[in-house]
Formats: sequence, C-alpha cells, structure tokens
Amino acid sequence: MRDTLPTQVDVVIVGGGFAGAATAWALARRGVGDVLVLEASDQFGSQASGRNASMARQLSSDPLTSALLRQSVDRMLGPDRALEVEARRCGSLLLLEEPAGLPWLEAARMSGSSRVVARDEAVKRVPLLDGARFDRAVVTDTDAVVDVSGLLWAYLRGARRAGARLVSDCSVTAVRVAEGRVAGVATTQGDVGCRVLVDAAGAWANQVAGMAGLSPLSMAPFRRHLVVTPPLAFCDPAWPLVWHLTDDYYFRPEVGGLLLSACDQVEVAPGPAVRDPAVLEVLAERLARRCPRLAGVPIQTWWAGLRTLSADGRFVIGPDPRLGGFFWVAGLGGHGMTGSAAIGELAARAITGQDLGAQGTPWAPARLLR
Ligand SMILES: Cc1cc2nc3c(=O)[nH]c(=O)nc-3n(C[C@H](O)[C@H](O)[C@H](O)COP(=O)(O)OP(=O)(O)OC[C@H]3O[C@@H](n4cnc5c(N)ncnc54)[C@H](O)[C@@H]3O)c2cc1C
Repeated sequence: MRDTLPTQVDVVIVGGGFAGAATAWALARRGVGDVLVLEASDQFGSQASGRNASMARQLSSDPLTSALLRQSVDRMLGPDRALEVEARRCGSLLLLEEPAGLPWLEAARMSGSSRVVARDEAVKRVPLLDGARFDRAVVTDTDAVVDVSGLLWAYLRGARRAGARLVSDCSVTAVRVAEGRVAGVATTQGDVGCRVLVDAAGAWANQVAGMAGLSPLSMAPFRRHLVVTPPLAFCDPAWPLVWHLTDDYYFRPEVGGLLLSACDQVEVAPGPAVRDPAVLEVLAERLARRCPRLAGVPIQTWWAGLRTLSADGRFVIGPDPRLGGFFWVAGLGGHGMTGSAAIGELAARAITGQDLGAQGTPWAPARLLR
C-alpha cells in the first residue's frame, strides 16, 4: 500500500511504527483525515514495531503507566473494541523474589486486575519453572500475545479509510519553520507543507527534533535481543507469557518452541539494530543459573531491536512547548505495542487542540527538557 506524496497536508506524522500508526488511526476517529504518514524504510513497522515480543503485559511498576496500558488493551481486545485484531488471551505469570519484588506485589494489588499466587501454583501452571528461583508470581489473566502486524495494519488501514496517505521509503531530511511554528518538511521524495508535525520516529525522534532546531529530550535508544528456539517437546502452547521481574528474563510459547529474552539493555546510537553474539552467552548463563530446565535450549533464530526509553521511563506524548505545531509521540520503551491505542488517543486529543490537563502531565515532553 503506497500513496503518492502530496505537496500540502494538515498533519505530517514522521514514523510508521506503532506511535505513528496509532496516532493516525486516532486522528481518523476524530474526523481528521488530512494526514500523511511518512516512513523511512520500505516497510511500515520494520523497526521496533516489527521486532518486539508481541506481548500485551499490562502491569508496570508505575501505576499511571499500568492504568494507560489497561485502557489500551481494553480498546484493542476488549468487548467494545474498535479494531479487528487477533490475539491469544493466554494471561501472564510474572515471577518475583523477595524482598526485591515487593513493590510489584503492591503494584499488583493497586491494579485491581492482577492477583498474587504462591510458587507451587505457578510451577503447576508451567512445570518448566520447577527449580527456577522465585518466591511468588503475579497473574494477570487478561494479558495476551498479539498479532503485531495485524494490529499495525488495522491502525494504518483505519487511518487510510478516513483519507490519510501512507508513504514508505520516504525519509524526512529537514523541518521547515516559519514565524515560530512548523511549516513543512523536506523529504527524500520532495517537500510537503503542513500545519502540524508529529514526531513518531522512535529511536530517531531526537534527530527529527534536531531538524526543527530543537535540542534533544532526555530519552535514548537501548538495544534488546530476542531468541526463538525450534519446537521443543516439553513446551505447551497454552502456557502464559512468563516474565521474571527481578531475575531479568522472559519467555513465551512460539510455534511449538519458545521465544526468550535475557532482558538485555545497552544504550546505542539510533541506527540499524545490529545483533551482538555476546548476548547469547549471557542468556545461556542466566538460564542455567536461574531457570535450570531451560539450560542449553537450542536456538533457531535471533534478532535485536531498539527500545527508546525516556529518563523517567514514561511515554512522551504531547506538544513541544518550544515550537508551535510540533508534537511528540515517542519514548514508548518496552510497552509501545501494548499502549498504542491509548497513546494514539491521547496524542490525537492534544493535536486537535484539547487541553489534556492533569491527564497529560505525566507524559508531557516539557518534563524531559534538559
Ligand atoms: C526486543 C523488543 C521487545 C519488545 N517487546 C515488546 C512487547 O512484548 N510488548 C510491547 O508492548 N512492546 C514491546 N517492545 C516495545 C515496542 O516494540 C516499541 O515500544 C514500539 O514498537 C515503538 O514504536 P515506535 O513507533 O515509537 O518506534 P518504531 O517502531 O521504531 O517506529 C519509528 C519509525 O520511524 C521511522 N523513522 C525514523 N526516522 C525517520 C525519518 N527521518 N523519516 C521517516 N521515518 C523515520 C523508522 O524507520 C521507524 O520505522 C519491544 C521492543 C523491542 C526492541
């Protein structure tokens, strides 16, 4: 699906991952269709949005983030959902050791949608955890594994039906500013005038801001790897997603085997997510010590992606106070797919001139000015 580049639109969205796609969709739902989504790669969602673990995990250590994630999952997968998305409502099992994990027990209690279970119950559900280090587990039955490509395209198709144009293989190379506000962009396919620019460029968001003369926000990309095993006889595809919150690894069923991560987090420059073989040793060592029944699992394929984290770990959604018409939808960290429906909605409200009031404060870009 590729449209031609117009010369003038109301809203240009830079980036065709979950941030950009969900914002375009939410704008469409508010009747704003004069929108152009620009993606540098030849495929929408080819960066973080197409390299993630597909897990909709709603519990975060930050209660405000948790609330937004729950709202988002409800919009994506709940009974009144406005999107056609495939998902496996497998639930999650979040493991923890005490005392390090005690704040998570409090977060689970406050969420109202998670419960704490004893170690034995968790091992009964996922026998592979026999011998693993943990004291208790938090269960969230409504967590899920989502068809991420289906979700991304549900957003993009919804936006396109309302008039949005989608152009891939088109990098924004400069931002034109006139009379103290955004006036347009230069791209590898030509110039486009606009009233509003949405910076949804993921790991490159600070670079795009720099094109508009804005200094970077406190936010940076961090690389993480995912590993997939071949089919394994002992895996049950009905298992929930399992995340050890204090021992730093997670896994979930994936086509007869497992998808795993060592939760590695290394700050990198924006750019292609290049794999580092050292991570495979870290994962092997971590599993052997912390979840012995996973020791020595074979690896079929592995890849890396960039998670862009703000200094306080919260999303960055809203207007930049330094330049009229410049909006951020960035810093989606490790929850960008899960939070996308609610993130897009908040962004669209701000872009259409609604004052988000106290609801917008936790996500406001201004808090990250250096
Ligand atoms: C290994 C890993 C596992 C993860 N697991 C999960 C998970 O299980 N659940 C979950 O909810 N989240 C997960 N995430 C996080 C989630 O993937 C991200 O939060 C989300 O995809 C970020 O979306 P985005 O649109 O901000 O960034 P991106 O998907 O990176 O999109 C930004 C886009 O902007 C484009 N762009 C950049 N500069 C320009 C320019 N100048 N002109 C035009 N286009 C430009 C890029 O090409 C890119 O496609 C994971 C991430 C990783 C890396």
